[in-house]
Amino acid sequence: MDFQCPVCNKIMPYDLKLILSHSDEHVIEQIKIKKPGWVEQDGLCKRCHEYFKSQFPDRKG
Ligand SMILES: [Zn+2]
Repeated sequence: MDFQCPVCNKIMPYDLKLILSHSDEHVIEQIKIKKPGWVEQDGLCKRCHEYFKSQFPDRKG
């Protein structure tokens, strides 16, 4: 089963889908700025998650 990442629009295996939790709140905020209409329940791929997380290398909690 494949999954289309709503952030980068790439098709990838369903295993690469992530649903973000509240601990990723700052990541969620950034994605919403880039992709209005996206909600965390839509999920995203690991690559996008790494990309957005890398915007906050030193931030904890
Ligand atoms: Zn993606």
